[in-house]
Amino acid sequence: MTKPVNYNKILAGGAPPAGAGGSLNKRDLPRPTAFLPRREPGDFMSQGLIIRPSLDFMLKQKIILIHGCLGLCLLSFLVFPIQFYSSDLSCYNLKRYLTLLDEQFAFYGWTDLNLHDIPWEYHRTSKYKHPLMFVVFNNQAKQYTLFLGGVHGDELPTVYLTFKLAQYVKDNPDLFKNHGIVIAPLLNPDGFLSRPPTRVNASGIDINRNLPTRDWQAKAIRQWTAKGKRGRYYPGAKQASEQETLFQVALIKRFKPQKILSVHSPLNFFDYDGPSSDLDSFEKWMKQICKKSHHPMKKFGYYPGSLGNYAGHERNIFTLTLELPSSDPGRSKKYFEKFQASILKFITLPVIGSPPNIRIINSKKSASKR
Ligand SMILES: [Zn+2]
Repeated sequence: MTKPVNYNKILAGGAPPAGAGGSLNKRDLPRPTAFLPRREPGDFMSQGLIIRPSLDFMLKQKIILIHGCLGLCLLSFLVFPIQFYSSDLSCYNLKRYLTLLDEQFAFYGWTDLNLHDIPWEYHRTSKYKHPLMFVVFNNQAKQYTLFLGGVHGDELPTVYLTFKLAQYVKDNPDLFKNHGIVIAPLLNPDGFLSRPPTRVNASGIDINRNLPTRDWQAKAIRQWTAKGKRGRYYPGAKQASEQETLFQVALIKRFKPQKILSVHSPLNFFDYDGPSSDLDSFEKWMKQICKKSHHPMKKFGYYPGSLGNYAGHERNIFTLTLELPSSDPGRSKKYFEKFQASILKFITLPVIGSPPNIRIINSKKSASKR
C-alpha cells in the first residue's frame, strides 16, 4: 500500500529544493484536487465544506427532471391502451352533448325524456364535434330494425319521436324480446342545434342526397341544378363526403337491418322502398297500417343519394319513410301517440332472410291479423 503523502505539509513548507534527498519533484505530487472531496451531484455538504450548486448545475437538473416526466408520460401512453384515455374523453363529450340536448329539448317543452339513462354508443362526430350516437337493444338478435330521426335538422318532431322510442324500448324490454332494434335519433345534430335549425348539415349539405348510390355521379348534381339549385337540397360536391352520411352507411353495414324506418316531416304520408319481389305483400301490410293510423300512403319515389334509393332500391331492405304532418315541436308528443302502434308493429313484422333476399313471412295472414 502506498503511504499517503502529506501534501498540506509540503505545501506549507514550500517545495523541496531541487535534487534534495528523495528529490521530490512537483510533477510527482498528487494533484491537489485528489485530496478535496469529490463533488457528486446533489452532494452539497462534504467533510464540513458547503458546496453551493451552480446555476448551471440546477438548470441541468431541471432539464433532466422535465425530460424524465415527458419520458414517463410517453411510456404510459405506450404501455396502456389508447382507448383508456379516449374512452374518458368520449364519455365526457357524450355527457356534454346530452346536457346540450337537454337544454334544447326543454326549450321545445320535451321534458319527459331522460337521455342520460340510455346506453348510447358513438364512433364518429359531426363537423361541430357532436357525437353521432345510436343505441342497440337486444344486440344478440339475428334480425334488426333500424330507426333514423333528425336526418333534416329542422324537422323537429322527428327528433323527439325517435328519442321517445328509444326510451320506450328501454323501459319495456319484455315487449321486444328477440327483436334487434337500433335507434339513431339525431343524424344531423349540427342542423338541429343551429339557430334557426337547418335542413342541411354544417357544411350546407342535404345528407339525404349524399349517400353513395349508383346513380349519384351521373344524376345528383344534374338533378339539383335542373331543379333550381335550391340550397336545402344540395347533394355535396362528392358522394359520401359527410360524416353523417358515413354514419348511416356504417349502421347499415354493421347491423344489416331487414327493416328501416326513417322519420321526416312535414309531408304527411307513409312512403316505402324495398324488395320488389315482396312489394305486394308489404303494400298490403302497409295499407292496414295506414288505415289504422289514419295516415295516407304515397309512393314518393327516390333520389340520387337518398336513403330510399341506397337502402330500399339498391339493397332490397324494407325502407319505410314516415312523414309527420308538421314540423311543429309542440305537436311532437301527439305524433308519438299517433304512430306508436304502427311503429311497434313495424318492429314485430315478421320477415325472413337477409338483404337483398328478404320476404315478409305469411304475408296474407299477417296482413289480415294486423
Ligand atoms: Zn326530411
